[in-house]
Amino acid sequence: MELQSLIQRLRTFRDQRGWRKYHTPKNLAISISIEAAELLELFQWIENEDEVLEKQKERVEEEIADIFIYLLFFCDAVGIDIVKAAERKMDKNERKYPPDTRDLWG
Ligand SMILES: [Mg+2]
Repeated sequence: MELQSLIQRLRTFRDQRGWRKYHTPKNLAISISIEAAELLELFQWIENEDEVLEKQKERVEEEIADIFIYLLFFCDAVGIDIVKAAERKMDKNERKYPPDTRDLWG
């Protein structure tokens, strides 16, 4: 339910600004990738990853939020239930990698 109210909030934000026409699957997929790159950028040239999480936690949260928002917009545009999709993928992952799996490439 919390997710549904967030999705509704995103739709309202998008529609009040007339941005729906820009929310094609291609544009949204590109946006997901760009936001993921912005998350990566926070770690660029950094040797101590913990330092990023300590000193730039707010930036990390913002980029995570951007990725999630675009994922939800993408799923909304193409009619995917993101929770069901993740559950189905986890069903596959659990079959593919049983609990005693250690070596992924062995
Ligand atoms: Mg961003």
